[in-house]
Amino acid sequence: MRVAVLSDIHANLPALEAVLEALAPFDQVWQLGDVVGYGPQPNEVVARLREVGATGVRGNHDAAALGQLATDTFNDDARTAVEWSAGRISPSTRAWLAALPERVVNDGYTLVHGSPRDPTWEYLITTAIARANLSAFDTRYCLVGHTHIPLVFHQDPVAHRVEMSAPSEGETVRLDERRAILNPGSVGQPRDGDPRACGMVIDTELGIAQWHRVRYDITEVQRLMEQAGLPGRLIDRLSVGW
Ligand code: ZN
Repeated sequence: MRVAVLSDIHANLPALEAVLEALAPFDQVWQLGDVVGYGPQPNEVVARLREVGATGVRGNHDAAALGQLATDTFNDDARTAVEWSAGRISPSTRAWLAALPERVVNDGYTLVHGSPRDPTWEYLITTAIARANLSAFDTRYCLVGHTHIPLVFHQDPVAHRVEMSAPSEGETVRLDERRAILNPGSVGQPRDGDPRACGMVIDTELGIAQWHRVRYDITEVQRLMEQAGLPGRLIDRLSVGW
């Protein structure tokens, strides 16, 4: 089975379309939260995910757009975008988002947004944090998003040390007996200095994960964001991947 793993789409439809095209063919789509927030097309993105039968989890921006999470810890731009999304999402988008759980186990993979011990808020960004999270999931592999940075953490089965690496475009990682935490990077708002949309494919038969970077029409998204009156800093950051 080939699984397209997507995270932090953030209402960016052109980026989602480009990544789906680049990762095809696939049998399933798993998404790791923050479907909405920041971007201009929340309803269109959810409709597309329904079309491809995506399963997955909710992120902090999804919960905030539903009014289920206070936004006082969001920065001003993020809060403005969340409030814009809350006023914009349709009843069917709302229902789809509200049905997303915090954690899902699909075929031996635990899916969460932030981290398995704190799915809403924790940024899984260091080996120390990864190691502290190994006891918070039962499966061999865990998939996380939230940082918008493609990363992989492996646990050495003998030394129990955790190693971290940042996979680049086209890079393949073997899914073997080692426990691993994998982050596909962000579809709709990459933050590793590469503005191209990011996604990952898992091939469960071959036992590999592969990361892809995909060019998409950033200018078109920026035009829609301007039209929507979304904050300038959120518009500009898409050009630089930060
Ligand atoms: Zn996010």
